[in-house]
Amino acid sequence: MKRITIAIDGFSSCGKSTMAKDLAREIGYVYIDTGAMYRTVALYALRQGLIVDGQIDEAALRSQMDRIGITFRLNEETGRPDTFLNGNCVEGEIRSMEVSRHVSRVAALGFVREAMVEQQRRMGQEKGVVLDGRDIGTVVFPDAEMKVFVTASAAIRAQRRFDELTAKGETCDYDEILRNVEERDRIDTTREIAPLRQAPDAVVLDNSHMTIEGQKEWLMRLYQQRAAE
Ligand code: C5P
Repeated sequence: MKRITIAIDGFSSCGKSTMAKDLAREIGYVYIDTGAMYRTVALYALRQGLIVDGQIDEAALRSQMDRIGITFRLNEETGRPDTFLNGNCVEGEIRSMEVSRHVSRVAALGFVREAMVEQQRRMGQEKGVVLDGRDIGTVVFPDAEMKVFVTASAAIRAQRRFDELTAKGETCDYDEILRNVEERDRIDTTREIAPLRQAPDAVVLDNSHMTIEGQKEWLMRLYQQRAAE
């Protein structure tokens, strides 16, 4: 079997990261959560007071991009990589509603995308990687041997996100989450740079009514085909 690049793109809260992480573990690949990288930039901007009333101080953020060091480290307990900002674990904070509210606007900025895409290409240059995001198969690795485009209805995605946050003990409101999911879809699909699009050679996976197990088997079959080609 040859080592390949696997791109998993799609809408917010489709369970992309769970499937990408599980697949990577199963086949011994490195998993890269590109959404976590954009979330970390948004968290940095919030902490520095660079987002006020939804307005981003773009000039200040641009000049501070080289102060944002993003790294991943495997958490032995969860089996997932935790995200670090300048050496401090921010895994919990980047998943908060506060970050979700602002991340898509931060991710629409050209200089932010340029910096993240460069890092992602560097991390994936040796192949043997699974990346999940919005523009992996279209922009970051257009030559990826395996591309999946994941989708599910907005209501189902909002419910999954609600269950996830509630399980973590965060108080949240389903309607607010649904609005956030829809708003992020809108910004991600209509932004000028690297909008969320299905790559022509991507295979669509609608997991609205699929079990995690069913999804795993589907992915594994596709991987085995692609790695054998
Ligand atoms: O995947 P996740 O929902 O954590 O991503 C957070 C946000 O980061 C998305 O809503 C999207 O705006 C942005 N993103 C992106 N390009 C990627 C990954 C995420 O623009 N490759």
